Amino acid sequence: MKQRSVEIIGAGLAGLVAANRFAQKGWRVRIHERNAELRMFGAGIWLWESGLKTLETIGAYEAAVARARSIREWQIRDHKGRVLMSRLAHAQDRLLLPPRADLYQALIDQAVAHGVDIVTSSLATGVTPDGSVQFDKGPQAHADLVLVADGAYSRIRESILGTKWMDFGSEAGIRMLIDEEPGDVRDTLIEHWNGPWRLLFNPCTDGKNYIFLSAPVDDERARKLPIDAALWTEKFPQAADLIRRCQVDSRWDRLVNVKCRKWSEGKVAIIGDAAHAMPPNLGQAANTAFINIMALAEMVSPSEDIPLALREWEREQRSISDHVQWFSYLYGYVLGKWPKSLLTLRSDVVSALSKTEWFDESMNRGARHVPMGYSPEAVRIAHKP
Ligand SMILES: Cc1cc2nc3c(=O)[nH]c(=O)nc-3n(C[C@H](O)[C@H](O)[C@H](O)COP(=O)(O)OP(=O)(O)OC[C@H]3O[C@@H](n4cnc5c(N)ncnc54)[C@H](O)[C@@H]3O)c2cc1C
Repeated sequence: MKQRSVEIIGAGLAGLVAANRFAQKGWRVRIHERNAELRMFGAGIWLWESGLKTLETIGAYEAAVARARSIREWQIRDHKGRVLMSRLAHAQDRLLLPPRADLYQALIDQAVAHGVDIVTSSLATGVTPDGSVQFDKGPQAHADLVLVADGAYSRIRESILGTKWMDFGSEAGIRMLIDEEPGDVRDTLIEHWNGPWRLLFNPCTDGKNYIFLSAPVDDERARKLPIDAALWTEKFPQAADLIRRCQVDSRWDRLVNVKCRKWSEGKVAIIGDAAHAMPPNLGQAANTAFINIMALAEMVSPSEDIPLALREWEREQRSISDHVQWFSYLYGYVLGKWPKSLLTLRSDVVSALSKTEWFDESMNRGARHVPMGYSPEAVRIAHKP
């Protein structure tokens, strides 16, 4: 088969993982980023077993997690300090937490090593199902496959009428990296809940912890940057020592859900947040994108009929994505919408449910999914020095 080409729109995590995997599969790959520089806001990111297997397969694992903390336990605690959930990780069910910038740089470096053509200041303005991409400047491009990876607020997915709905939800969050101090826990994620407010402590790397604060989107004080320390200390007095360190460069985001009518049309497919953005309650949105991309490369590469292979890919992968998105939404609903007068009941319900097999399976289905095309043997051979 002659070498085939793929044009990718958007050099975020999804676009770059796709670039790496398709290049590895022998495709000629070009990726377009509208920004003049490749940059990533530098808080941390949860990488689960499924995401880590993807990184191992594309050869970006070592560099991505070189400085990451290995997480042993994820706890949710209520406003009285009661532990509502304890989710343990282990060697076959890993959770690593690198700085985002490390993951991003590892993907860029590996893409360059795989011969991917990365074009910055390249703003795509539309696509057509025959595999054409239009840009604000310069001639249009044609390829055997076009991947739309332009993020949750994708404009390009409208070219193929992709959006079914986009739900801004009622939650928003602030992310930042704070200085680590002696005595900080190094292997446990601690998520504190107080009504609809949340403070999530993440050990990240030597010298830095990652903090995520979330609150109802209409809470004006809670969205202030730098953060309103008095408000957050009132909500989480047990974390006053962390909040004191939170007057640093941070970022506020509204949490968003995206559902697409379909993931492809002709030779164009939508991937990453453009296809299935979800609130970050399970820390699995990017990991889910990675497993979908692994399956995409695996199913499209041997096929002579790309539109058909794309439809089969969606049939294969859609249910796991929908599930992770649904569970993440449910989690956010319980956190953000539970009646204030019934918080003790919430603690009892979450505590009881979190010990069930149903909860464990539902929460971890995406995290534990083995990506299509992953094989320990292939990873070992591909990365032999
Ligand atoms: C607070 C928070 C915490 C999170 N934590 C986790 C976590 O711990 N684990 C996890 O798995 N996920 C997490 N996520 C989700 C994860 O960040 C996203 O799923 C992931 O970053 C999406 O990557 P993407 O490449 O699809 O989109 P994006 O990162 O949005 O990238 C899109 C890229 O496309 C470019 N672009 C846009 N339009 C165009 C155009 N027209 N032409 C060319 N380029 C264009 C943009 O500039 C950008 O570089 C979190 C999300 C949030 C909000």
